[in-house]
Amino acid sequence: MAIISQRAYRFRNWAGNQQCTPSHYYQPETEAELIEVIKTHSKVRMVGTGHSWSALCHTDEALINLDKYNRVITLDREQKLLTVQAGIKLWQLNDYLDTEGLALINLGSIAQQSIAGAISTATHGSGIQYRILASQVQRFTLIQADGTPLTLDRDADKETFDLAIISLGALGVVSEITIHICEAFRLHDRTYSMDFDKMLEKLDDLVTTTDHFKMWWFPHVKDIVLYQYQRTTAPANDSRLRQWLMDEVLSVSVYRFLVWIGNFLPSLRPFFNKILVLSFRSPLDRIEKSYRVFNVADPPIHREAEWAFDLRDAREVLSAYRKMIDESDHKINFIQEIRFVKGDDYALSPCYRRDSIWIGCYLIGDRGWDALLHDFEALAVKYNGRPHWGKEYHIDRAYLRSQYPQVDAFCALRHRLDPDHKFSNTMIDAICGTI
Ligand SMILES: Cc1cc2nc3c(=O)[nH]c(=O)nc-3n(C[C@H](O)[C@H](O)[C@H](O)COP(=O)(O)OP(=O)(O)OC[C@H]3O[C@@H](n4cnc5c(N)ncnc54)[C@H](O)[C@@H]3O)c2cc1C
Repeated sequence: MAIISQRAYRFRNWAGNQQCTPSHYYQPETEAELIEVIKTHSKVRMVGTGHSWSALCHTDEALINLDKYNRVITLDREQKLLTVQAGIKLWQLNDYLDTEGLALINLGSIAQQSIAGAISTATHGSGIQYRILASQVQRFTLIQADGTPLTLDRDADKETFDLAIISLGALGVVSEITIHICEAFRLHDRTYSMDFDKMLEKLDDLVTTTDHFKMWWFPHVKDIVLYQYQRTTAPANDSRLRQWLMDEVLSVSVYRFLVWIGNFLPSLRPFFNKILVLSFRSPLDRIEKSYRVFNVADPPIHREAEWAFDLRDAREVLSAYRKMIDESDHKINFIQEIRFVKGDDYALSPCYRRDSIWIGCYLIGDRGWDALLHDFEALAVKYNGRPHWGKEYHIDRAYLRSQYPQVDAFCALRHRLDPDHKFSNTMIDAICGTI
């Protein structure tokens, strides 16, 4: 074989809660090399940047990473379509598009992920008129188990595209992606705090009056932090000094120091959360380039689960979550993130056919995490939630089938495209069962 594998490679994900030791690790630079690897092995998985908490990337045999298959292929300015190799990172796309006066239509909180990884797990941002990132894809190419490419276009092959776009890496290697982009834009960001109950009263307005709305709830505190982003063509006015103070000194250094103290004295965590929310008392009002507002300062390593619920249940599920935390012994040292995303038609999308509120349950450190995850999942199941594939959850196939009506159709497609289940691992097997 022309392409050499790296032996004794140990995969460890961003959060450090997942590890595996594949027998072969490859970073192909050409499509021919990629096909050669796929044809050589009977078991193959892919890893982007390892920013998933779940065990999606696990394999004992061949692990493929496309860090060296990450070029821009074509830019069609007129149609606003960009074709890239699938290993490109979202931050590389942001930088490239910025120099062209263009931008990604929507983003999540960070841009470290590969585009293929982000799309494969239904990664999302926030904004009730905006769908998950995969909705920006016009077409993509999969290299299948036998090495042949299969290109799926959202218009020409709608049925298969909708089944395959959120693939969890179970259908083949995504090698090229064509996405819709837009003219560069800025966001008018108004960030402030509000009493939790008042927020519940005004929730419908808050969700719909600005283009992008999200919330950070620091548990044990009466107020919640609201982020309202409006798309604008007005010039940027954010100061570098403020960015340095907020995004580096307060959000990173001071915050990590408080978390460190809270590790020894968990009973102080509610007090530290109050101090942090107080810093949002004087509202932030700024205009900045879109991706600099969507993306937040580097978060500390933490554990994370996130589920999507029907938007119509938003008030009830938020109240229930607050009650659950208030009546428990959990002492939480990190934000709980609340976002809003428009429904779609993709089989494995947690937003399948319903406008959704996402609730993220986050904790820094492992101590207390299992108990918190257990309680959060019990609540999420009670409210018909659907888990984020890239985050932590326990797979109950019967429950997944009840919430993802198309999961069997997805598994049948995977069996058709990959009859020997070359791209499977324990997690995919748990999702698809015997199909
Ligand atoms: C700090 C942090 C912040 C985050 N913020 C958000 C957020 O705002 N919104 C959100 O929704 N999620 C968020 N996530 C989750 C993250 O976006 C997803 O887990 C995403 O899948 C990670 O991308 P990755 O490139 O690291 O993929 P990996 O985690 O490496 O892989 C994810 C999946 O993609 C598959 N895959 C990778 N490359 C290919 C390929 N070429 N072909 C086929 N399959 C492939 C893998 O096999 C795996 O199944 C965040 C994660 C972290 C750690």
